[in-house]
Amino acid sequence: MPEPALKLDQVEKTFDRIRAVDKVSLDVGQGEFFSLLGPSGSGKTTLLRIIAGLETPGNGSVYIGGRDVTRLPPYVRGIGMVFQDFLLLPHKMVADNITFPLKMQRLPRSRQKEQLDWVLSLVRMEGYGNRYPHQLSGGQKQRVALARGLVARPDILLLDEPLANLDLELRKEMEVEMRRFQAELDIPFIYVTHNQEEALTLSSRMAVMHNGKFEQVGAKLELYSNPQTRFVASFLGSPNHIRGKLKHVDSNIGRMDWKGIDLAIPMPSDANGGAEIDYFLKHEKIHVQPPGQQEPVQGMNRLVGKLRDIIFKGQHSDYFVILENGEELVVSAATDLPELKIRQPVEVSWLPEAGDAFLAQGD
Ligand code: ATP
Repeated sequence: MPEPALKLDQVEKTFDRIRAVDKVSLDVGQGEFFSLLGPSGSGKTTLLRIIAGLETPGNGSVYIGGRDVTRLPPYVRGIGMVFQDFLLLPHKMVADNITFPLKMQRLPRSRQKEQLDWVLSLVRMEGYGNRYPHQLSGGQKQRVALARGLVARPDILLLDEPLANLDLELRKEMEVEMRRFQAELDIPFIYVTHNQEEALTLSSRMAVMHNGKFEQVGAKLELYSNPQTRFVASFLGSPNHIRGKLKHVDSNIGRMDWKGIDLAIPMPSDANGGAEIDYFLKHEKIHVQPPGQQEPVQGMNRLVGKLRDIIFKGQHSDYFVILENGEELVVSAATDLPELKIRQPVEVSWLPEAGDAFLAQGD
């Protein structure tokens, strides 16, 4: 087995009795795009700062390329960093901002120029070396910040919400660019974000963090299609959060009462009859059609309702369906379903495994 590019072993950090990072272990391989995803306060930034050497863990160890760097300062770890607010020096030109880490390393001027030219072409900013930060757009500033993170050819790039200050269009463009940089450089990117869509778009693997712990680590598709905890399902999942009561179990399928509607759901292993259940139903796995068009399929949930609204989202649209119990479901389906009209009756149907069921928690 090759040495992981980054290894965390039982890493812990406590601030004034707050356990910001709680016994986290992880291996990240060469060339992975790995995201740390979690809500505000879950410990992502603290963990990234521990990897960078900006924070010392109370317990546990950090290895980069097999070397124990836990007690080493940031500048000898072979890492680059990119932050949300760019942190460019306003009175320095782009070239000087980018080569700042090389000056710290006292690299000869000719080598600095070589590295600068290489990285400016990587981020497609050739010709911008003599500008000042205030003469750049938000996207260009972020490219300069990325160039500075990469100019010393680090073994790992650490990124803390680097796209959070960009508008949506620019963010989409930079997501494509991030993937290109990562594939071209073939070094691990460790990417902190609270944005599920961004993590799912960018990463090969990811960890969902909650209260300083990893709730689940794995390939993004695995986390999305097979969440192991209620938190992961609700954080990654869909707008359809259904809470009901488990009635009984029929051959590994639970029957749930959802405000008067009977639903077939996958059976949470730790639930008994009478338990409150949270069922997270993926909106892209629900079918919507005029009533009576679909042949009955055994075990499928089929409900009638009324179409309240359709929101056009490009190739897909969101269909909002009010059911007989007054609750609403969101269905994501093809945009060109001309037979569906607002305020008309519709039928929605899905298989139990189109969602994930867990014991409810109080929220
Ligand atoms: P965000 O997305 O809001 O940046 P995060 O997931 O990155 O959140 P952290 O910034 O790592 O979370 O914070 C984790 C916990 O540790 C929080 O409860 C935070 O208040 C606490 N914390 C972080 N840094 C410090 C510090 N220097 N002193 C005291 N508490 C801290």
